[in-house]
Amino acid sequence: MSSFLRPASADFPCDRDRYIPQLRFAPCEAAELFQRSALSWHDGQLDVGLQYAAAAVGVKCGEFHDPCELAPFWHIALLIKARKLEAGWRALNSLEAGRGESESQSVTATSHIIRGELLFTMGRVDEGLAEVTAGLRIAERCGARSLRPSGYVVMTLGALRRADMRACRHFVDKLTDEAMLGYFGQAAGAWVTAQVAEARSGVESAAGLIAGIVTNPQVLRQLLVSEPAAASWLVRASGKLGAPDLAKAVVAAASAASARHPQFSIIQGAALHSAGLLEKDAGKLREAADLYPDRWCTVSALEDMAGLMARRRSERKDVIGILESALGTYTAVGATRDVSRVVNKLRDFGVRHGAIRTVERGSDLPHGLTNTEFAIAELVSQGHTNSEVGRQLFISRHTVAFHLKKVYQKMSIASRVELAANWKALQSNAVSAF
Ligand SMILES: [Zn+2]
Repeated sequence: MSSFLRPASADFPCDRDRYIPQLRFAPCEAAELFQRSALSWHDGQLDVGLQYAAAAVGVKCGEFHDPCELAPFWHIALLIKARKLEAGWRALNSLEAGRGESESQSVTATSHIIRGELLFTMGRVDEGLAEVTAGLRIAERCGARSLRPSGYVVMTLGALRRADMRACRHFVDKLTDEAMLGYFGQAAGAWVTAQVAEARSGVESAAGLIAGIVTNPQVLRQLLVSEPAAASWLVRASGKLGAPDLAKAVVAAASAASARHPQFSIIQGAALHSAGLLEKDAGKLREAADLYPDRWCTVSALEDMAGLMARRRSERKDVIGILESALGTYTAVGATRDVSRVVNKLRDFGVRHGAIRTVERGSDLPHGLTNTEFAIAELVSQGHTNSEVGRQLFISRHTVAFHLKKVYQKMSIASRVELAANWKALQSNAVSAF
């Protein structure tokens, strides 16, 4: 895991050059601006990175240098990180309109991956993941590496939200391979890897990686201008680990990023969200929710606010209202894991939603399984224990055992081994692309 946290510049200069060539090798002005942009972002300066990227796009270079071909996509990637989604969408469409027939495979791959990332961030999850999948397939075939890691990060986030642990493991393996080669901009990869470890086996199993991210100022700076959900996740995880110093370090860094980027409401929101969690300040969480331009982030801040309000019985009705609306949004953006967690919280308030409402998988599940039974069968077939399944779906292991019995009856089987054997045959569509 520690390979994620290796400084990008030191150990693998050759491989790093392949991603972002050193400044002195820049073949033209546009390429040099692109490199300055990448290095600025790498150091947590998203504002400067965006300025250089826009300048690189503005310079017309007649040659077909790799960096000059990639610069417009890089610009859009930074717009996505800044959650300037409309600007990103416009830039992508005008880029597509001007593209010729004879473009390289790596440009085609990059275009798919960026479009997918944009759609995913807009909450159009299925379309987004399909685009990224198509882009990664081309990128893996033609050996283009520059945007593969960011594609794997999106796929891992998508798999996490759907509680698809098999896909999570697959993409974390891919990210680990890239990390071995010292890819450029490794912070988001380290963070999604920590999230997967927590989801699979509890927060302790991610402790080393979390500490590694938080105590490496350069990695933390880069993460905080790349993934808006990272700051609040790290504060929550540090809290579970009983590591208040880590939580404080995250809040301080998020506040520094926010001071540096006053014009980016996504970074402002993330700083307020993490501070609100640490200080148990519902007002800051409400402010964060209002500031966030990202639906998932907004709901996440409101859910945390409901958590604070739930301590007072007088606010019960409001808390239920917030959680129910969170449930609706998480469902709309395909976030099965989040749906499960909120259903469980509502159950604590005596509000029942029957089975866990998972995202529609299409109307016909095999053997007439319910969504909950399907999710449990999927995880059990991957070799998870009832406790592990319970942790991933936020239900008790007794509830898992209860549903599993139903699965056995419906499938006319008697054991986990039989389930795993039968499940493989059923599962032809999940991650077959890889
Ligand atoms: Zn050029």
